[in-house]
Amino acid sequence: MGNCICSECIKDSNLKRYVVKHGSNGVCNMCGEHREQVLKIATREFQNRMKAAIRYNYSEILYNSHWGGVSNWISLLKEENLIFKLPIEEPNEEDEDDLYWEINAIPGHIEDYSTDVSLYFGGERLDAFFDPIMRDRWSWIEALSEKIGYDNPNIISKEISNKIKDIITPLAKEIEKIDLYRARIGIKDILIYSELGEETQKTYIPYKKNEIGAPWPKIATEGRFNRAGTSYLYLASNLETAINEIRPSVGHCVSIGKFRIEKKVNIVDFSNLDFYDYATSDDKIDEYVRLKSIEEILCIPNPDKEYRLTQGFSDAFILLGYDGVKFKSSVSYDTYNIVLFSPSCAKYIDGTHEVVEIKGLKYDIENKEININKKYLEEYISQNNTGHKDEIIRDNFGIDIKGTFNERTL
Ligand SMILES: [Zn+2]
Repeated sequence: MGNCICSECIKDSNLKRYVVKHGSNGVCNMCGEHREQVLKIATREFQNRMKAAIRYNYSEILYNSHWGGVSNWISLLKEENLIFKLPIEEPNEEDEDDLYWEINAIPGHIEDYSTDVSLYFGGERLDAFFDPIMRDRWSWIEALSEKIGYDNPNIISKEISNKIKDIITPLAKEIEKIDLYRARIGIKDILIYSELGEETQKTYIPYKKNEIGAPWPKIATEGRFNRAGTSYLYLASNLETAINEIRPSVGHCVSIGKFRIEKKVNIVDFSNLDFYDYATSDDKIDEYVRLKSIEEILCIPNPDKEYRLTQGFSDAFILLGYDGVKFKSSVSYDTYNIVLFSPSCAKYIDGTHEVVEIKGLKYDIENKEININKKYLEEYISQNNTGHKDEIIRDNFGIDIKGTFNERTL
């Protein structure tokens, strides 16, 4: 035993980050090359992170024979996979020192959920299987989304605050002396000068100070985080994010202003949530899934304007003593929004007014794979048990199953 793997042989981004960070010069037993970042796979942390990478990308149903998958998780790695760049080859003879057998010996069942990562949900827990972490959601939030229409906000906010109190504590943060942007559709006035024979000139007068600040509660309409009659201050880390929040159309003039959080405010910060920090034990992974589920509610725009859930969460943050919440913007990865529950926590910065006209709305797009992937097919079918599998495949992937796939391979 004593095999090493280099960062270049790793495909999963979190596992790769770990090897880049902790690796040193050596020979990789996967590619056979001498590399700068090479790590022994015998350490518990590498093994936990490798198992976390498998859990992140794959559903247990694919590698647990109990659920119809292959008989052993290592079979996933014997073909093209999302963890390593090269498939791991099984040697002809059972040479214990071989990379394959050392990886194969990593335990998939564990006993201590606080220090190890399990590949199987079973054991002492309920008879169920793991969803891939990237798609896993906190089931309590799903149940909450159902009942939120039937209980009053004061009941819901108490339930949320009791449930999230402890898990959000590590995300508590004090911030101060930060300048942030705010935008409002429209301008206060426009002055037009025109003299005979000369080009018309326009001067735009933006909304400033209180006009661009949070409205008084008596006129505040409902927003993503505030109920009607409650006024919160929505701010963004940059101009584009602030504009995106108010959803202008092409041709709109938008007033811009900056606000400063001068004195310390206590916020809960979801903007740095990163699986890398949690890929160390089952307990930490559970914590990640819960926080990630909350983060998604906060970040993902809600075109149906169904705000009861986000409003319930802001009520809960207030009950728990927070002045605001910070979360990633849906515009780009490195920008964020802050919602302050008391507008007086930030002050308008004199002289920061601007007017911009929306000339176009850009969408940065990427084509996604829509063709059928045999590996995920079985899982997809199992989750869509409303029809015959041939119909599910035909309706979702446009493939007539007859003659296309050998039934046995599904
Ligand atoms: Zn390598």
